Amino acid sequence: MSGLRIPLGGPDGSGTAHTLALLAPNPSPMTLDGTNTWLIGREDVEEDVLVVDPGPDDEAHLARVAARLAGRRVAAILLTHGHDDHSGGARRLSGLVGAPVRALDPRHRLGEEGLADGDVVTAGGLELHVVGTPGHSFDSLCLWLPEDRAMLTGDTVLGRGTTVIAPDGDLADYLRSLDRLRATAERVGAEALLPGHGPVLADPIGALDGYVAHRRRRLDQIRAARARGAVTPREIVEIVYADVDPSLWPAAEMSVRAQLGYLEG
Ligand SMILES: [Zn+2]
Repeated sequence: MSGLRIPLGGPDGSGTAHTLALLAPNPSPMTLDGTNTWLIGREDVEEDVLVVDPGPDDEAHLARVAARLAGRRVAAILLTHGHDDHSGGARRLSGLVGAPVRALDPRHRLGEEGLADGDVVTAGGLELHVVGTPGHSFDSLCLWLPEDRAMLTGDTVLGRGTTVIAPDGDLADYLRSLDRLRATAERVGAEALLPGHGPVLADPIGALDGYVAHRRRRLDQIRAARARGAVTPREIVEIVYADVDPSLWPAAEMSVRAQLGYLEG
């Protein structure tokens, strides 16, 4: 293995020995630099490749992905989850490269095959092991690439900051998924997390410990804010997220709703 590629200036072009990130042009407070579309394969052009998360339905981005794959057989397009910034371009890319789309949620599939915890997807002699990690969304998956000791994490773990619990997610599920991911990363000796947004993380255990600690801290802060009289999600955000840029408050409010549901559940 040639080690991690962590270029200066962002995720585009980063990856591991058999992975490469192509950055979609959809930056925002929620998507960081944009969505990372991951290409998985060997250098040998005779070997099949996989694509993980086409990104949004952006014609120029998908044309760039297809051009990068020109001449290669794409065994499948895989989705870490169904949110539009990951899946929106799946149909167009499927048309460009002639590959099926596999996802946990049947609504996002093109072709016969789904994608679920325990599945092993192979291409060019590389294996991707599917790890079910519901929480950010109900259909979130991570993908373990043993050859590179790398875990593709979708939106379950991001390259910077922390993720949110989307309206179709669940915080209790998310906390269980983080525990499971940490245990898995430790057992298999993971050396890199390849996120759906932001740069490659070279310290998986440290990153996952940070995520768990952050969640516990936020829950404690929400309990404290409620003890001080804050009732609505907005009131809680104004106390707990006072140090966070207000452009992120709508996302924070979504997260607070998820945490209130968890505390009251
Ligand atoms: Zn998402």
